[in-house]
Amino acid sequence: MKALVHDGYGNISLQERPMPHIEEAADAIVRVTRSTICTSDLHIMRGAVPRALPDTVLGHEFVGIIEEVGGDVAGLAPGDRVAVNCETFCGTCYFCKHGWVNNCVHGGWELGCRIDGCQAEFVRVPFAASACTPIPDSVSDEDALFLGDILATGWWSAKIAEIEPGGTVAVIGGGPVGIATMMCARLYDPGCIILIERDPARAELANKLRLADRLINGDAPLDTIELAVQALTRHGGADAVIEAAGGSTTFEMAWRIARPNAVVVVSAMYEQDQILPLPRMYGKNLTFKTGGVDASGLDEVMALIEAGKLDTGCLISKRYPLNDILEAYRAFEAHEDDCLKAVITPWEDR
Ligand SMILES: [Zn+2]
Ligand SMILES: [Zn+2]
Repeated sequence: MKALVHDGYGNISLQERPMPHIEEAADAIVRVTRSTICTSDLHIMRGAVPRALPDTVLGHEFVGIIEEVGGDVAGLAPGDRVAVNCETFCGTCYFCKHGWVNNCVHGGWELGCRIDGCQAEFVRVPFAASACTPIPDSVSDEDALFLGDILATGWWSAKIAEIEPGGTVAVIGGGPVGIATMMCARLYDPGCIILIERDPARAELANKLRLADRLINGDAPLDTIELAVQALTRHGGADAVIEAAGGSTTFEMAWRIARPNAVVVVSAMYEQDQILPLPRMYGKNLTFKTGGVDASGLDEVMALIEAGKLDTGCLISKRYPLNDILEAYRAFEAHEDDCLKAVITPWEDR
């Protein structure tokens, strides 16, 4: 089968790889019908993800059709349409039982990182019963496509941000994760969502979709951004801040625009270490929640998609067959034509 492989030295190539097969009784083989390129794939490609292994098929955001299941996979059968979780988790270890599936002792972020991922024709999905969310008939593949990664991230970030009705949420970064985050934050009925974004096209989209109530130019100096947020809030900053950008100044921005006693959620992935200057924030009494998404409870998110309460169709900029995935990477990385999400469709015999 065809698959997109990274070599661990910054190179990616489209290769012929052996068909995956059932290795454990909890595995399923899924035929990929839609996948995406995620910014995390670019981080891996650049060598900025220490846990990533070389010579691995990239990709961890996808939907597909079950081809085959192992003997221990309950509730799934060949032919089922499923959205697959970016996290691999057993569902029974200490961390899974607490909902901390990113730290599952048997998994975490494995697909497209430590084991072969979804930018291929087929993929082996471990712990398939935990990983696969069935797609209802009324939901299209593309409507469900982001469930297992960016929508899961937005859902998790909004949930742990402790947003109260009428409160102010500041979201840093209006890229795909930022958009999914604002959509999920809106479900908590905040009084105001402030988006800080440097790309005018992305800010405009968030405004047009009514995801952000207020926009602040992310290119402005940090002092200016801090003052702008203070001017829009009543208690010296946002009640909750979600940092979804991962830029060179956005971590500092996140704690500076938070009001005292706010929750600061950092879902962004950085390529460099960040500084936590505790003396400067002493007495601000912030709560930081950081790290990789605990992508569990996605049945609930799928039900919101089915009910029309979460609609991520706006993220799909362009579609490329697997044949042209290298071109898709180039366009995605360059933000060409304001590309938010490049969707990969199946291989075409030409
Ligand atoms: Zn991702
Ligand atoms: Zn586990």
